Amino acid sequence: MNTIQVKDKVFKPFISSEKIQEAICRIAQQMNNDLADKNPIFICVLNGAFMFAADLYKEINIDSEITFMRMKSYEGTQTTGHVKAISGLMENIEGRNVVVIEDIVDTGYTMVSIIEQLKEKGAADVKIATLLHKPEACKVENLKLDYVAIEIPNAFIVGYGLDYDELGRNLKDIYVIAE
Ligand code: 5GP
Repeated sequence: MNTIQVKDKVFKPFISSEKIQEAICRIAQQMNNDLADKNPIFICVLNGAFMFAADLYKEINIDSEITFMRMKSYEGTQTTGHVKAISGLMENIEGRNVVVIEDIVDTGYTMVSIIEQLKEKGAADVKIATLLHKPEACKVENLKLDYVAIEIPNAFIVGYGLDYDELGRNLKDIYVIAE
């Protein structure tokens, strides 16, 4: 694998598609064991998690459903700045066992907000499956990530659904920004 250019930035190879698939199979197996009798509803957070969700869901062999939502940013009226709200979730999740499928947990703010809003919508249980986790970037306490495929250091990555300015989502492998 060679370095690539996405817009004005150079990225170098970081995680191969083989390693990604291996890690996904590992967490899918855990989910098949843990959630066998729970009839879970998987919720993929668009856009970044679409590729991960597709590959993960192919490995899930228990009774379950999958659906999709977005986190939509809007300017808060207070000084708290950006607030993100769930948008586009069509299913009633009252009393359901939910598994959120996310591309990456960085500071953790987005995930905390997702869990809070899904609980407000009546979910009985909310579990988290994330492709990537940056433990060093975490800014929140007590965020339990149930299924983490791959832990990475605190650096900007692109590929396999994750973008740089909407570009690079189509890359099969994951690349990290070159210094
Ligand atoms: P958090 O709220 O945990 O800080 O951020 C989560 C969101 O930030 C992710 O869903 C993703 O959209 C974006 N993000 C965080 N780190 C990266 C990264 O290294 N690369 C890309 N492409 N997006 C990232």
